[in-house]
Amino acid sequence: MRPFPIIFSFVVMLFGFTPSATAYRLSFASPPPDWSALDAWQGTMSREAFLHRLETVYAPGGASSETIRVEATAAYIRTRASQPHAYYRLAFAEGGGAEVAAKPVIFPGGRLAGSHIVIDPGHIGGDWAELEQRSFRIGDDPPVREGDWVLLVAQRLRHLLEAEGVQVTLVREANEPVTSARPADFFAAAAQQLGRPAPETGEEPKPDIRRRAELLFYRSAEIRARADLIDRLPQPADLILCLHINAAAWPDPENPSLVDEDHLHILVNGAYSREELALDDQRWQMLRRLLRRLDDNERIAARALADAMAEKTGLPPFTYRSPVAVNIDGHPYIWARNLAANRLFDGPVLFLEPWVANSHSAYARLQMGHYEGHRMIDGEPRLSIVEEYAQSVLSGLRRLAAEPPPTPEDAQP
Ligand SMILES: [Zn+2]
Repeated sequence: MRPFPIIFSFVVMLFGFTPSATAYRLSFASPPPDWSALDAWQGTMSREAFLHRLETVYAPGGASSETIRVEATAAYIRTRASQPHAYYRLAFAEGGGAEVAAKPVIFPGGRLAGSHIVIDPGHIGGDWAELEQRSFRIGDDPPVREGDWVLLVAQRLRHLLEAEGVQVTLVREANEPVTSARPADFFAAAAQQLGRPAPETGEEPKPDIRRRAELLFYRSAEIRARADLIDRLPQPADLILCLHINAAAWPDPENPSLVDEDHLHILVNGAYSREELALDDQRWQMLRRLLRRLDDNERIAARALADAMAEKTGLPPFTYRSPVAVNIDGHPYIWARNLAANRLFDGPVLFLEPWVANSHSAYARLQMGHYEGHRMIDGEPRLSIVEEYAQSVLSGLRRLAAEPPPTPEDAQP
C-alpha cells in the first residue's frame, strides 16, 4: 500500500493518478515532466520575486512547503514526490539588479493588429452538453447549453477581431469534441481508478464506472486535445481566451428554479493546492508558468478585460469563499484558480465567466436568443448576450493594447 494521506486519495479519485514503475505521481494521462526544460530560467529570477509569486499567486498559504524548499541562493524542487531526496536545483538571480525584469507586453506597438488570439469556446455543447453537465431546461423552454452559447460568442468575437487585423484561432468550430477519444475508451481506466474489474468488451459498465469514464473524457482527454492543438499552432498565441458563462448551484436540483445572483469574474492560473503540487506534472507546470512570468501577462490582461466587461455588462463581481481560488491584486473581479485548461494551454490564459445562466436576469435574456441590434429589457436598450459579451471583450482588448494597466511592480517606487 502507498502511504497516501486521505486527502491525497480524494484528489487522486478526482483527477486520476497512474501508478507506474517509474514512481512518478501524475495527473491522469499526463506525461512525466522534463525538469531539464526549466534550465533556460536558471538564474533569471530573484529569490524575493520567486517567493512573492508563490505566495500571492501560485501556491498561497504555504501550499508548496512540502515540495519546494526555498534557500538563500536556490530553490530545491522535488522532481518526484515519491522520492524525498530527488531535487531539481533552481538558482536565483544574484544581487537585486540581476533579475531580467521584462515588462509584460501582450500587444507590442499598442496595436491589436498583427497579434494572434486563440479563443477556446468552453465545454463541448450540442449532444454532449448533458453528459458534461452544462445544460439545463426549465419547463418547456428551450434548453440552455453553455457550450453552444460560448461558441456563438467566439464566432462573433472572431469576426470583430479579424476586422481589427488580429489573427484568430478558434479551438473548436462546432459543438463536437476536439479529442477523437470517446467515454467508452476510458471504461477500463475508470474501473481501475475505482478499484473494480474492467467491464468486458461490449458490456454496459456500472453507472459509477461510466460516470468516471465520462469525466476522464471531457475533463481530461478533451482539455489535453485542446492543449495539443494550441501547441501545434504555427504562430504562438499572444493571449488565450477561454469563454464561459457561469451557472449557480440549483437551490433544489429536483425542482429547478432560477436564482437571484448574477455576476462576473475572470480567472488567471494559480492557487495550486498542496495536493495538486504533490502531483509531479502539476508542480512542473506551475513552475514553468511562474518562471515565464505568465502571471504578469495574465494579471494585466485580466485587469483590462475585467474593467471593460464590468462596465459594459453592469455585472457585480463574484467573490470566492473557498480556498480553491485566491484574489489577485485586490481587484474585485480577478481570481486565480488551477484548472486543467489554464495550466496546460501554452501562453497567457484568461477564463471569462460573465453572467449566471440560471439567474432571473440572464435566463430571460438567453431565452431571447441571439438577435440583431437592441431590445428593451427592464426599460433599457440591450444587445443580445452574444453581442454584449463579444463587444465587451473587444473593448477590453483595445484598452489593453492602447494603455496596458500597470503591473504591481510599476506601482512600486
Ligand atoms: Zn463553463
